[in-house]
Amino acid sequence: MMNDTQLLRYSRHILLPEIGVAGQQQLLDSQVLIIGLGGLGSPVAMYLASSGVGHLRICDDDNVDISNLQRQILHNSQQLGQSKVNSARQHLLGLNPEVQITCFEQRLTGERLRAEVAKADVVVDCTDNLAGRLEINAAAVATRTPLVMGAAIRMEGQISVFSNRSSTTPCYHCLYGQARDIQETCTQSGVLSPLVGVIGSMQALETLKLLLNVGENLVGKLLIFDAFRMEWQTIRLKKHPKCAVCASQ
Ligand SMILES: [Zn+2]
Repeated sequence: MMNDTQLLRYSRHILLPEIGVAGQQQLLDSQVLIIGLGGLGSPVAMYLASSGVGHLRICDDDNVDISNLQRQILHNSQQLGQSKVNSARQHLLGLNPEVQITCFEQRLTGERLRAEVAKADVVVDCTDNLAGRLEINAAAVATRTPLVMGAAIRMEGQISVFSNRSSTTPCYHCLYGQARDIQETCTQSGVLSPLVGVIGSMQALETLKLLLNVGENLVGKLLIFDAFRMEWQTIRLKKHPKCAVCASQ
């Protein structure tokens, strides 16, 4: 049961008929794995912490570098050189000291990744490389864990949700499994700072809806944002009949 302080802290959620006291309690009882604490992971972690998602498991093997601070708003100038998980933890506990935070100062791979993905109610992919994304997807498909994917580069962003709970919906590999050579990250290409905020905030939003089981989500759809023209486009995604990851599941 929520105490009076919690009822106040989360009052603007509780006022929403789609959430109410029961929905907020559901968020408090939820557990989310956030992989990557950069430009996308920053707003994802901050909104999920402030929203009262009870247990955040955060993962990043990197340290805070001055070139991160243009867009990675979890970290600040006093934290240069610190590990990103530590710097993130400080910021998130400042936002909401009630949230339980588990840190992984490493890149989760193989069995370890699969075990952590299996524990999560939702996995949020905030990484910036295709190999990592494909591995996270495979773990999410194998454990039937919903995956919220976001990407941003230059002035374009993408977001999608893969439910991994039905044999008819596509997975991330259906979409990009053949594209192993389009390896481009914002290290090489640059990215407009608030764009990662837009995409990361929408990842947090989709995550909350999945946890609450309300509304319509982006399963089977890819939402593309052109920040230069200020245009959104929705593309229907199809399951690849011979997808190496999800076809046999
Ligand atoms: Zn697939």
